Amino acid sequence: MKFSDLPLDEKLQRAIADANYTTPTPIQEQAIPALLERKDLMGIAQTGTGKTAAFALPILQNLLQDGIGSGAKNVRVLILLPTRELAIQVSDCFEMYEKYTRISSTCIFGGVSDLPQKRALSRGVDILIATPGRLLDLIQQRVVSLKKLEYFVLDEADRMLDMGFIHDIRKVVALLPPKRQNLFFSATMPPEITKLAATILKANPVRIE
Ligand code: AMP
Repeated sequence: MKFSDLPLDEKLQRAIADANYTTPTPIQEQAIPALLERKDLMGIAQTGTGKTAAFALPILQNLLQDGIGSGAKNVRVLILLPTRELAIQVSDCFEMYEKYTRISSTCIFGGVSDLPQKRALSRGVDILIATPGRLLDLIQQRVVSLKKLEYFVLDEADRMLDMGFIHDIRKVVALLPPKRQNLFFSATMPPEITKLAATILKANPVRIE
C-alpha cells in the first residue's frame, strides 16, 4: 500500500510527499481507514511506529471533510499528552501535516509563562495539543472551551497514569461533549489502563497493536 492509495486530500498528500513518506507503517495502514470511518480506536503502540501520523492525518482529513472554522475559544480536537517534550513533538508533526490547509493547531504545557499560549489561543485554533495541568488552568481562566470538541486523543495513557495524571484526565473527560470520536493510545495495557479506556471509548472500539 502507498499513501497515494489512501483517500486523503491532495493538501495532505503534498505534505506527506514533502516529509518523504511513501509507504504507510503497519499502524498507519490499520488506523487511517478506521479513523476515516469515524470509529473509536484503541492503539497499543510505542513511539517510533508512526503513531502520530496514524492519528493526525485522518483527523485532519475529517476536519477538511467537515469544513473548517472553529468558534473563538472552542477547540475541535484535543490531544492530551503527559510531557512538554511529547506535546512539542506532536505539535511539530501537526504543523508539518496541516501546512497546506487552513487548519490551525497550537501547543500548551506548564512550566512556562502562559501569556504566549493565551495569545495563540485568542486567535482561535482548531487543534489543541496539551498537557493536563496547563489545560485545566486555561479552561478555568476561560481561555479554552471544550464544549464543541469533536475529537479526543489520549496519548501515552500508561505514562499519564504513572505520572499521577488520572484525576486531571477524569476532570478533562467530564468536560467533553458526549458525541465525539475518541482515540486512546498506550504502550502497555495493565488493568487500570483498560478500565480508564472503557470510560472514554465507545463500546467495541477498533483495536490495533
Ligand atoms: P512517531 O512514532 O509518530 O513518533 O514517528 C516516528 C518517526 O517516523 C517520525 O520522525 C515520523 O516523521 C516518521 N514517520 C512516520 N510515518 C512515516 C512513514 N509512513 N514513512 C516514513 N517515516 C514516517
